[in-house]
Amino acid sequence: MIAPRSPLGHDATIGILGGGQLGRMLALAAARLGFKCHVLCPDPHSPAFDVVRRVTEADYADMAALDRFANDVDVVTYEFENVPAETATFLSARRPVLPDPKVLATTQDRLIEKAFVQSLGIATARFAAVDSAEGLAAALATIGRPAVLKTRRFGYDGKGQAIIRDGQGADLFDALGGQAQILEAFVPFEREISVVAARGAGGEIESFDVTENTHEDHILRTSRAPAAVSAAVATEARRIAETIAQAFGYVGVLAVEMFVVKDGHGHAVLVNEIAPRVHNSGHWTIDGASVSQFEQHIRAVAGLPLAKPIRRGRAEMMNLLGEEANDVTKWLQMPATAVHLYGKTAARPGRKMGHVTRVLPE
Ligand code: AMP
Repeated sequence: MIAPRSPLGHDATIGILGGGQLGRMLALAAARLGFKCHVLCPDPHSPAFDVVRRVTEADYADMAALDRFANDVDVVTYEFENVPAETATFLSARRPVLPDPKVLATTQDRLIEKAFVQSLGIATARFAAVDSAEGLAAALATIGRPAVLKTRRFGYDGKGQAIIRDGQGADLFDALGGQAQILEAFVPFEREISVVAARGAGGEIESFDVTENTHEDHILRTSRAPAAVSAAVATEARRIAETIAQAFGYVGVLAVEMFVVKDGHGHAVLVNEIAPRVHNSGHWTIDGASVSQFEQHIRAVAGLPLAKPIRRGRAEMMNLLGEEANDVTKWLQMPATAVHLYGKTAARPGRKMGHVTRVLPE
């Protein structure tokens, strides 16, 4: 791992692995701070390609392309957590890669991630490893029903997971592809929240206000900040995210998704998932805070000071999925509303095409 030369000068180029909407919004934030960006992504229609100085359309395993990419940039960051380990290792030998790719080894595997979270004294759903159909039966006997079966790797937006209710289960190991899985106790949550936190190169941490999220078909539908939780829950949620960032020695922005459950007269907070990147539930920060999650990430990887985020009001973010983005006229006409479109052409059902944010007085 090459140590960053920090802070980056104004002529510096930031390399971004992944060209989706997160890469696009990172690049837009980088441009505001005077940086150039170079995005590497295999998809010729990458939303981030439209807004950066240089693009490399190449597979993440194309070492010759990675070498040229590394030579053109001062630091490398990424917008998605499934960066292959070999890609990260190859780039790390040539340029600083932030956040440190060792974080990916933990967050790419739900079992390792949950064990890591518990090792910090932070609660998760009860879980068990599942490596075979017989193993699933044994795990169900320990965890009970309902339970949620997930692939350990490469699941997102509800892909690679299934809820197991009474009388079901036996065939689900094969239905999820027969790969290594994790069985989690179903959490009867009152609400879902997340905390987006930034940690700078010097170890300083700034987290955004706790966000409350709703999902439909496992896809994020709405986020609002602040979450309707007690001050005690909000403090605990931020402490959890900051503890995780600190434990990783993280540099950049991460998001921690959590469940809030009733616990006697109070509430408990359980970690569901860590995203080692900017996150959909932090999109409200572009319009709803004095600094966005994207700018905080760029500041962190560039070795610049983090900002102290101040929320501008009550923020509500709604994703525009599939065809919902075809007609945004009503949103464009609505007061206090910002429309963000990602420049994607194919509006497949459930695909994140854009989002709208409304910021209202408290
Ligand atoms: P994930 O891919 O782990 O982020 O899960 C996607 C969504 O599925 C979560 O945001 C929850 O709404 C739901 N979910 C996942 N795991 C559990 C669980 N153990 N108990 C209850 N709901 C869950």
